[in-house]
Amino acid sequence: MKLVPVAVKCPLRRHFDYEVPPALVETLQPGMRVRVPFGRREAIGLTLEAPADITIEGDAEASRYRPLIELLDDSPLLDAELMTSLRWAADYYQHPIGEVVAAALPAALRRGAARSAAEARWLYITDAGREALPERRRRAPRQAELLDALAEQPMPLEDAPASVARSLRERGLAEIAPPPEPTEAPPEPAAPPAAVTLTAAQQTALDALPDKGFAVSVLQGVTGSGKTELYLRQMRADLAAGRQALLLVPEIGLTPQLMARARERLGGAVIGYHSGMTDAARLAAWRRVDAGEPLLVVGTRSAVWLPFRKLARVAVDEEHDVSFKQQDGFRYSARDVAVLRARAVEAPVVLGSATPSLETLHNADTGRYQRVLLDERALAAPGAKLHLLDARGQRLRGGMTPDLARAVQRHVGEGGQVLLFVNRRGYAPALLCHDCGWGASCRACDARMTWHKTRDRLLCHHCGAVHPVPSSCPSCGSAELRAAGFGTERVEEQLQKLLPESRIARADSDVMQRTGAWDRLRAEVLAGEVQVLVGTQMLAKGHDFPGITLVGIASVDQALFSSDLRATERMAQLVTQVAGRAGRGNRAGEVLLQTHVPEHPLLKRLLDDGYEAFAKDLLEERAASQLPPSHPLALLRAESAAEAAATQFLEVAAEIIRAAGAEALGPIPAPMLRRAGRWRAQLWLQAPSRAALQRALSRAAPELEGHRLGRRVRWGIDVDPADTL
Ligand code: ADP
Ligand code: ZN
Ligand code: ZN
Repeated sequence: MKLVPVAVKCPLRRHFDYEVPPALVETLQPGMRVRVPFGRREAIGLTLEAPADITIEGDAEASRYRPLIELLDDSPLLDAELMTSLRWAADYYQHPIGEVVAAALPAALRRGAARSAAEARWLYITDAGREALPERRRRAPRQAELLDALAEQPMPLEDAPASVARSLRERGLAEIAPPPEPTEAPPEPAAPPAAVTLTAAQQTALDALPDKGFAVSVLQGVTGSGKTELYLRQMRADLAAGRQALLLVPEIGLTPQLMARARERLGGAVIGYHSGMTDAARLAAWRRVDAGEPLLVVGTRSAVWLPFRKLARVAVDEEHDVSFKQQDGFRYSARDVAVLRARAVEAPVVLGSATPSLETLHNADTGRYQRVLLDERALAAPGAKLHLLDARGQRLRGGMTPDLARAVQRHVGEGGQVLLFVNRRGYAPALLCHDCGWGASCRACDARMTWHKTRDRLLCHHCGAVHPVPSSCPSCGSAELRAAGFGTERVEEQLQKLLPESRIARADSDVMQRTGAWDRLRAEVLAGEVQVLVGTQMLAKGHDFPGITLVGIASVDQALFSSDLRATERMAQLVTQVAGRAGRGNRAGEVLLQTHVPEHPLLKRLLDDGYEAFAKDLLEERAASQLPPSHPLALLRAESAAEAAATQFLEVAAEIIRAAGAEALGPIPAPMLRRAGRWRAQLWLQAPSRAALQRALSRAAPELEGHRLGRRVRWGIDVDPADTL
């Protein structure tokens, strides 16, 4: 009997074997889609290897294997390189291969859509089908339902329930034909690429970037120093040579402007790929990449799995950004996978940032990556005029010390623009009773509710719960309910009082949800219509506002005392990125950072000596305590509805993992013990090398999966965690 191993999307860390019908033995290759019986339903899976012989002992064993139903591709959908990368990712990130493969395929292909638009197959009702409709309604309601839909309009075959469509076709009630109209998007108008003359610094950096062959370069320069211009310059040459390129960016919000600019530089042939696109648009983009069209893909995380045929180059912009690491399910790092794929096809990689991640700095220190400096400012302290404002004993209004408030007024008075970074949205992170000390907290999480004054609601930022704002204290009945702490709304309100004539704008996820909101705001800031911009993290990301003369940072103290292993490095990146927004035009800039701990050694190091020096200290500290990036770390995260279940499972898991050859520390309760009604805990897993950790985890995983205590627990392995919360 011939069997073929198939990856089917399901949470088990294994593949499934199917019997291969004799007719398919010769044609079946790895990387092809097959329709298979799966439990009591059918599924579409991907073959992992070519069919192989097994010797069957008796009928009982033979009956364990079911034949595959149908082969969907006549050549491998994914090539050997991508298949190898997917299998590597499944092993490295300890995630089920079926889910890994699913992450790499647009939804339409997972449902069975044809590989190319030319091969697309649609289902049409036949005349016999129209005649049979009344009779089918009585005898076969599911067939009738599909016939009714088809009588309205034909549909792509993959959108119809497979078994029902098959019955209809066998009866001649429906038939397959090409799509009714061309589904291909019209090609973008080609324009001659717009040339930009590189500055001397850019030219020097460009000369230092390898043009061919696998190499990873860390391109360091502050926002606006011209990194993107360099990626695009190299990619223009790649496309002209008929090849493909990938530019990974942290956020969808950043893509529209970037796409427009890339089209301008490259003269068309630029496509996007991100979660904001429809299934059909993603499929169309996938097909163009698969067809080997010379083009640049500007995309977020999942674009790293596109089926590049002629990949010439990869650039990862803002490579330190956490959004490159998926935070649930298949927890892969798109940055690291990009490097893996580039190595496989011998393409160069550029990692761009003003504040490279600790992992990347470590890789540079050990000689794996080379550093290319675009802008001296990237190495210097955040700015000569960065000052700490001691907030101790000061009367804060709207989160601002009198000194900060005066500075804002002065800069606006002198015609400058001000950017104020606040690390929380909403009005206040807590609503407290002044008489008895009661505070509004979430019923499902160990967390305070955030008061959103504009919406007049209390929101939990961890589970999304929404409650009305009580008019009096539910505990003692007092009407003295007061806001404690501050968020963006409260800072905005206070600023409007200070500067009644000025336009204050807020940029946080509450106001930026509407499409185009960010683009509008950005235009207003650039046009000088906005005097003060108050916002969260989103202000730190790759935006360049040359009119900003003052940057205020309301507080970063929380990060200094956080139990998250990664909190301080994120804080340093954020401060450096935000501070870099001041004085970019021709006016000198000022940066003010408020703190209650002005003597904190980490803060002093960052302000006195800059991000590089800070990161160097942190790297030494991590190495001394055998933590990443010099030492591997994985977390086994577990959460359960019953209080003790997660911890009980982790206790057993720790034994299993130790027996498999890795160290397991814990169970450690998560910093937020209960979130969205679930109790959370984790194990810290370590071994002398990444390979040793991976071996131990692979050995332990099947036993963990089979353990009865795991059934009441939601658990997952997080390799190279982006946070330890
Ligand atoms: P980064 O990627 O480092 O943030 P960009 O490449 O986006 O920097 O450049 C910032 C701005 O400067 C962009 O508007 C870009 O078009 C412009 N720019 C960059 N290099 C040049 C150049 N050599 N000549 C003219 N404009 C440039
Ligand atoms: Zn009270
Ligand atoms: Zn909650």
